[in-house]
Amino acid sequence: MTEHTTESPADVIVVGAGLGGCLTALAVAEHNPTLSVRVLSLYEDRFTAHSGLIDVLGYDEQGAGTKDTPAQTLPTDPIEDPYSVFESLPETHPYRVVGEDGVQQALALFDKTVSGYCRGTPDKNGLALVGNGRLSPALRYPETVQSGLVSREEPTLLVGFDDLPQFDAALAAARLSERAAYDVDTITIELPVVLAEGPTPTAVADAFDDNETLRRVLAERIEEEIETHSRIGLPAVLGLDSAPAVHEEIQEECYARPFEIPLGRPSVLGQRLHAQLFEALASAGVTVEQDCTVTGYTAEGGQLTGVTVTDGTAEQVYDADAFVLATGGVATGGIQVRRGRQGHAVLREPVFDCHVGGLGTHKADGNSQHARLSITGERLFDSQPFERVGVETSEQFQPLAADGTVHYENLWAVGECLAGIEPTRRGSRDGIALTTGYAVGKRLAE
Ligand SMILES: Cc1cc2nc3c(=O)[nH]c(=O)nc-3n(C[C@H](O)[C@H](O)[C@H](O)COP(=O)(O)OP(=O)(O)OC[C@H]3O[C@@H](n4cnc5c(N)ncnc54)[C@H](O)[C@@H]3O)c2cc1C
Repeated sequence: MTEHTTESPADVIVVGAGLGGCLTALAVAEHNPTLSVRVLSLYEDRFTAHSGLIDVLGYDEQGAGTKDTPAQTLPTDPIEDPYSVFESLPETHPYRVVGEDGVQQALALFDKTVSGYCRGTPDKNGLALVGNGRLSPALRYPETVQSGLVSREEPTLLVGFDDLPQFDAALAAARLSERAAYDVDTITIELPVVLAEGPTPTAVADAFDDNETLRRVLAERIEEEIETHSRIGLPAVLGLDSAPAVHEEIQEECYARPFEIPLGRPSVLGQRLHAQLFEALASAGVTVEQDCTVTGYTAEGGQLTGVTVTDGTAEQVYDADAFVLATGGVATGGIQVRRGRQGHAVLREPVFDCHVGGLGTHKADGNSQHARLSITGERLFDSQPFERVGVETSEQFQPLAADGTVHYENLWAVGECLAGIEPTRRGSRDGIALTTGYAVGKRLAE
């Protein structure tokens, strides 16, 4: 049964607590602290799928491929200066819409909010080695990653752990050697701890946080193997809180600079980023409610009035003056897919039932807001339609219906749920989430 919540209505409700939702809420608080903001989120994901690197624009149009000229392989040559290629992006791309200033203002709020991150001088992409041996362009990266940037031409020792399959040191070294003009050697050692729940990255990080002696054991073990290497790469599992202390211990023992290599899920670097952002939300007075699914909305006369929330047992309606859709893309259910007739996928935005569009690759379903298309390209490394689909918006990031009119006067959309961008290939997921979140948050604060 649906009830009206007893909570007082908020000025702004943000649906989704990824990077886009967090930045929207923080930007509102930054520009107008008197407004009340409530963030509603599906579950406590803790950014376990986030690498901890902040990508803004890693590849240009050429690397991205298009529908007519699909890229046959993943791009290997990232761009150095993201700002230098903004002009080549489509006019509707969020970076073109907000301009270089808008992107820099969003990054400035990120920099102010999150400590322990660094950037190049000038502001250019750093190329970081990640767990699968790929090189990932990032405009902001944790300080613990910095010493490992590929541009630093130093003999490198990569250290893997026997029981931690998330990082294969030999594979990473082989891939790095293809690009590096310096020696890359590897060792694989036993984890300095036995974990009852198994050696997941999070469990190993917890062990480093809880047990200071592990730092010394690890440092001594590496010291036995190191030769002339001036830096040491380790998988990013060196504690949720204690990584700087582990680094210090290794540096003192081995006379070489350690660096962390970001891993896939469950990512410890992502969890560190999450902890900082959520602390900042709390300090800014933002209310965050997790473990709730926003399933629908209430509206009156072209304006949204509330969202319907279920926690699995009961439904409630939360009222607000303005609403922001920050639910992510296909991977997080921000855009839902089901198989339709003739093997086509039918896509849907499940919270506000917004029209789902893309780069003109689909045929609109005449009877509904839903889009029909084949969800994957013909070849694995082709441009993938599901990466382009999402909610189409006005220049103010207000969702548009199929006829081009604004769905609701008080609804905005940010981040990965937006249509028309190919975030994976261009290495721009985070920049788009930060930039659109910031732009919408600032506007709502006015
Ligand atoms: C499964 C997954 C895979 C990812 N893979 C990568 C990757 O390969 N590389 C990379 O750099 N980044 C990856 N990311 C991180 C993400 O793409 C980036 O952080 C990016 O910045 C997008 O941010 P966003 O806020 O737009 O969306 P997301 O980070 O996807 O956040 C969306 C949020 O909305 C919530 N949500 C969705 N539906 C509802 C609902 N109905 N009610 C309430 N809450 C809802 C979700 O729980 C989530 O908190 C991944 C994230 C996820 C979750």
